[in-house]
Amino acid sequence: MGILEGKNILVAGVTMNTSIGYRVAEIAQREGATVLVSNFGRALSLTRRIIKRLDPEPVLLEVDVTNDEHLAGLADQVREHVDHLDGVVHSIAFANPETALGGKFLTTPADDVKTAIHVSAYSLASLTMACRPLMSSGGSVVGLTFDARQSWPTYDWMGVAKAALESTSRYLARYLGPDGIRCNVVAAGPLSTIAKKAIPGAETFDDIWAERAPLGWDPKDLDPTARAVVALLSDWFPATTGEMVHVDGGLHSTGA
Ligand code: NAP
Repeated sequence: MGILEGKNILVAGVTMNTSIGYRVAEIAQREGATVLVSNFGRALSLTRRIIKRLDPEPVLLEVDVTNDEHLAGLADQVREHVDHLDGVVHSIAFANPETALGGKFLTTPADDVKTAIHVSAYSLASLTMACRPLMSSGGSVVGLTFDARQSWPTYDWMGVAKAALESTSRYLARYLGPDGIRCNVVAAGPLSTIAKKAIPGAETFDDIWAERAPLGWDPKDLDPTARAVVALLSDWFPATTGEMVHVDGGLHSTGA
């Protein structure tokens, strides 16, 4: 029996089979979950095509986390397919690569900072609140971060947004713990996804990890990260919330 047997899980942020969310969906299904996925806008057609590879093909919902109507209608959309959710995966981030990433930190306009924080951090709270009516018996929310306790080359305002995401997760843990809803983030090492390719100079991360990760690190292997997300969705972390679990080959534990 799989560790997610009988659970209903929404994975938000699946575009390609290189998306971390795709791998989470695949492993969650293998572990017995009924999986729904979401994405938004023009990329929906890509998602529709790629999820045909999953078995069974998951329900696809449209959720732009900056669209209040999408969020307000989400619970009803989900109820057309399952009567509750046991878990929600937030695998979403965006910052303007022209202005907010790649060394432009000192001159980034406020509007681009707002967008980065809205899409990449605030949305953990708004998505969770949109799903809350579906988790009246408790549940597990998992987000994805790139350890924002320190600065990184080129990551700039996405780093600030990730720090906000990590803090948002701790506040959700505080406010929703009494309802039995856990909220945790997985701090992954660099993975070769579309989001990473959009960051100018992100190849530097691969060199840093190749040099410093005690366990080594394969930027093409989504499995360790996706498995950690699935574990946090399961009943195997019943008393863990507000936590950041590193899946980075151990790099965070090294000083140089
Ligand atoms: P990805 O495949 O590009 O996934 C990011 C997802 O966010 C995409 O599906 C994207 O949709 C979606 N998104 C962007 N704006 C949105 C909005 N307004 N509403 C709803 N969805 C929106 O890249 P990924 O690397 O798997 O990223 C997943 C998560 O892992 C992100 O939080 C990322 O920061 C985090 N993470 C990634 C790495 C890494 O090295 N790749 C490391 C640590 C953490 P579109 O494709 O349609 O824009």
